[in-house]
Amino acid sequence: MTGPQIPGLTAELAAAAQRASMPDFTRWQEMIKSAGGCEQPVRLRGERVTLDGETGELIESYTTDEEPTGYLITACGNRRASRCAACAEVYRDDTYHLIISGLSGGKGVDEQVSAHPRVFLTLTAPSFGAVHAHKEKSGQAQPCRPRKNRPLCQHGRPQGCGRRHDGDDSMAGQPICADCYDYPAAVLWNAHAPELWRRLTLTVPMLIKAELGITHKALRRQVRISYARVIEYQRRGLIHFHAVVRLDGPDGPGQAPPSWATTELLERVLRTAAAQVEVPVPHPDAQRPPLVLRWGRQLDIQPIQVAAELDGMADKHVARYVAKYATKGAEDSGTVDRPIRYATQISSLKVSEHARRMIWTCFTLAGLPEYQELRLRKWAHMLGYGGHFSSKSRRYSVTLTQLRQARADHAAQAARQAEGLPEPDPNRNAVTVGRWKYAGAGLMHGEHFWAQLARDQVQRARRMRQQLTERDETPKVS
Ligand SMILES: [Zn+2]
Ligand SMILES: [Zn+2]
Ligand SMILES: [Zn+2]
Repeated sequence: MTGPQIPGLTAELAAAAQRASMPDFTRWQEMIKSAGGCEQPVRLRGERVTLDGETGELIESYTTDEEPTGYLITACGNRRASRCAACAEVYRDDTYHLIISGLSGGKGVDEQVSAHPRVFLTLTAPSFGAVHAHKEKSGQAQPCRPRKNRPLCQHGRPQGCGRRHDGDDSMAGQPICADCYDYPAAVLWNAHAPELWRRLTLTVPMLIKAELGITHKALRRQVRISYARVIEYQRRGLIHFHAVVRLDGPDGPGQAPPSWATTELLERVLRTAAAQVEVPVPHPDAQRPPLVLRWGRQLDIQPIQVAAELDGMADKHVARYVAKYATKGAEDSGTVDRPIRYATQISSLKVSEHARRMIWTCFTLAGLPEYQELRLRKWAHMLGYGGHFSSKSRRYSVTLTQLRQARADHAAQAARQAEGLPEPDPNRNAVTVGRWKYAGAGLMHGEHFWAQLARDQVQRARRMRQQLTERDETPKVS
């Protein structure tokens, strides 16, 4: 008999077959499927009891002691596609629904919200030194940074670059001269980007007040400004903000804003605010005046149209765009997706040289007392940025928690129906208490194959569902 042709695959399949022959397999498979085929499932031990809040009577109880597996599986819930493809897809779906319901209604948000003034805003970082870039003109790659007379920088290197970089050229985003590049300012900018955003959201209402000549109280009585935003890492390791900004009546999405609240006004105040906002921070060189951090001059503001209209950006397009960035980390800028604990690790990290310099700079600045609060060591793998990947104001639309709860309720109802159990009595005041202990995480020997299978099934079902809803949403031609 000849040996196996593909030893790795065969060993994996043998382990998978062995796992399938174990007595708890069917139950395990059910659990991993309901966890969406999560790549890093969490195993829990414990119990949950539901009691009648008034009489204390036991309505329902569950304990993992009675499970064939001896534990329960929950999905890791990681947002990042680089960590768990299954959970990231769920997160992307949720983010899509969160954004689209704030643009066109649904999921409990009034549909009249689609008539409110709203724009899609992109805020950029300024330049901290010249970088190689992929430039294109009518499908042709253009010279990166052409310079007459080939001037040299103070380090004796050319200041320009005549190459035509492809879109996937690893040079793109890397500094033309790393010694000319202002790494401390770049890291400090990333670290203060959340503060720049916060100041922007405070400046917008101030500008509207000033334009209308009304008080803060009067403004609050007439209009509410809502937003949802994500960040995107650029190849140069700096972040962009993409945000939906919307004007509602004082009660939120279900109420029309006053007639003066137009898309033009929103666009105008956002432009002014983006140009005005600044955050002064101590210069790393104590002899020098403070660094004043600002938004980059490149700013994009586009009105968001209802899907059926022809001009501007369509609401669905915006929602898809935002959802895509919600599952990404900083990896696209050539860094790593987990924290770096020791400075000694930095030299051997598999990252671009530019990212390595950014990470080094984070570690160096972290040692200075004036930057201690920025926790730059903790956020070094994020190139200094320590904020959230996505955030939204309270009244933008539904919350992720609400979407998750709706999904959990739906799953519980489906399970009850499958087992032929009665629906819970809505008039009964039931109290549920759970006690859970962490019993490990990750897939065990022979489980990868089955988790992948579950993931494929779940994703196929999701795609079919999406195709069906998209077909329903296609405007009918009469
Ligand atoms: Zn997961
Ligand atoms: Zn170049
Ligand atoms: Zn130089």
